[in-house]
Amino acid sequence: MSPIAANLQVVKRRISEALQGDRRAITLVAVSKTRPAGDVRVAFDAGCRDFGENYVQDALPKIAALAGLPLAWHFIGSLQTNKAKDVAEHFDWFHAVDRAKIAQALSRHRPASQAPLQVCIQVNISREATKSGVTGEEVVPLAREVASLPRLALRGLMGMASPTDDVAKQRREFAQLRGAFENLRAEGFDVDTLSMGMTQDFEAALAEGSTMVRIGTAIFGKRDPLPGPLPREREQA
Ligand SMILES: *Cc1c(COP(=O)(O)O)cnc(C)c1O
Repeated sequence: MSPIAANLQVVKRRISEALQGDRRAITLVAVSKTRPAGDVRVAFDAGCRDFGENYVQDALPKIAALAGLPLAWHFIGSLQTNKAKDVAEHFDWFHAVDRAKIAQALSRHRPASQAPLQVCIQVNISREATKSGVTGEEVVPLAREVASLPRLALRGLMGMASPTDDVAKQRREFAQLRGAFENLRAEGFDVDTLSMGMTQDFEAALAEGSTMVRIGTAIFGKRDPLPGPLPREREQA
């Protein structure tokens, strides 16, 4: 068995253990950013269908190389408006809506021949200045804006916890995101996706109600930085 397939088995077991008998469906997004198309293929053969990327230039050649496979591509990083067309044309999901302008650009560029782009609003739960995302109070107004756009389907919320091993702190931050999600549902939005949890904190996220985890390192191993400068896209690495 390949290391990627073995890692996947471990991750899947940890996910089912973290659910503690709860049978809700979890989508595992394998975060393949910086990884070659061959690694995506290995993960596909081991059962992965959803892949996460956050650098446009790194992702597009991989998506083209694997175009024959039934994959769902998730763009999980923040995005400049001038790259919205690439994402709208080549991805299935965008997790990081943080302003009306990017939502409008994605809707405008989403080809009519494709299903609406599935999107999540990113909420800044860690309150770190370097992390993007809206505040809790901004979620509902932005959701109204997104829901009014014809080529987007609002699916839910995404957030990243502070980089910490303190599980109690991780859980407090994820609980805030779940609160914002429940509030959105109470406001009448038909959302079903809570995208939270990465290698360091996915068990805490699942304990707080995550429905979608985005896991890179635990599946593919430690990432090497990409060669060469990739200005704003690199901020998320
Ligand atoms: C890189 C990345 C991940 C995956 O991180 P790992 O720690 O490798 O699991 C998840 N979400 C976002 C937004 C990322 O940029």
